[in-house]
Amino acid sequence: MAKCIMVLVEHFQGTVVDITYEMLGAGRKIAESLDVPLTAVVFGKDVNKCLSALGAADSVVLIEDERLEMPGIRIIAEILKSVFEQKEASIMLMGGTNITAGIGPSLACKLKVPFLNFCKNISVEGGTVTVTSQLFGGKILSNVNLTNDKCIISVYPGSFQNEAGKAAKIPPVEEFAVPAIEFEPTFKRYIEPEAGDVDITKESVLISVGRGIENSDNISLADDLVSVLGGAVAASRPVIDQGWLPLSRQVGKSGMIVKPKLYFALGISGAPEHVEGMKDSELIVAVNKDAAAPIFNVAHYGICADLQDIVPVLVENLKNKN
Ligand SMILES: Cc1cc2nc3c(=O)[nH]c(=O)nc-3n(C[C@H](O)[C@H](O)[C@H](O)COP(=O)(O)OP(=O)(O)OC[C@H]3O[C@@H](n4cnc5c(N)ncnc54)[C@H](O)[C@@H]3O)c2cc1C
Repeated sequence: MAKCIMVLVEHFQGTVVDITYEMLGAGRKIAESLDVPLTAVVFGKDVNKCLSALGAADSVVLIEDERLEMPGIRIIAEILKSVFEQKEASIMLMGGTNITAGIGPSLACKLKVPFLNFCKNISVEGGTVTVTSQLFGGKILSNVNLTNDKCIISVYPGSFQNEAGKAAKIPPVEEFAVPAIEFEPTFKRYIEPEAGDVDITKESVLISVGRGIENSDNISLADDLVSVLGGAVAASRPVIDQGWLPLSRQVGKSGMIVKPKLYFALGISGAPEHVEGMKDSELIVAVNKDAAAPIFNVAHYGICADLQDIVPVLVENLKNKN
């Protein structure tokens, strides 16, 4: 019988980030349903300051060490393996984010337990834990019943309420000694991204282009819309990866989070990593020739058509109105 549910605390340079509260809220529910305690695990250098944010846990395992300022994934996975085994945990939740990406699969391999990615929901019925994962860019939801009592789960950001994971107290803290492992490789330093040509987070109108724009010449269609609506051209990741626009224009998980008054999505499918960066825009208009594209699930207005037919007509009509 496992002794606890664990949440790997995610922090950026010592400040606890939102996904941690989401996981603490979700973990609290699982722990209560299974009648086991919820343990938060926090590692790093000078991470004492995180403790007051972890009140939703029953206890905290604190792994603080100078050498943990910027450890590589192998080192983290080795340490977490040791914590998981010694504390006889059954489930560890960690964020499906850029910060913790890579740790989950590595840890699961070391522990020889399943790894479940893109978790959107977790329920417990009659002692059975069911994890719902989002697959194929949100087109499929898969329910997995945990038959093995041990599992590492990567939680998709934004899936759970973060308020449920907040409580104003410091739970009992247990310091965990770093096991004897080799401290290589580590990251050398953190480099702040350079400021881009346009700060797309400050624009009130964004005309965003995706792979459906087909080539760099067609970006002029988006420029035409900008010339009548104002704002700036942004893009999904494939457009940036092609080098058609600079990285400073990328919207999404590994780009910018934007909340303009108007967001045009031209030839963008609406993959979760893109939607994460624009879903809170005030008005979303999507143009896509695939009626089943997930972007239409978040768009307020959708036009199912070829963008090369629609955009010139839109531009002409808007010009005539001005
Ligand atoms: C860790 C990680 C981080 C990521 N970070 C990001 C991120 O920050 N931002 C991001 O955007 N993605 C990110 N991605 C990639 C993401 O998963 C998707 O692959 C990407 O968003 C897809 O971009 P897209 O919608 O432009 O392309 P596609 O998914 O290929 O969609 C193209 C769309 O264009 C439509 N289309 C084609 N031709 C036309 C036409 N003529 N007229 C109208 N519609 C047309 C198609 O129907 C299709 O829906 C990340 C992925 C990972 C794994």
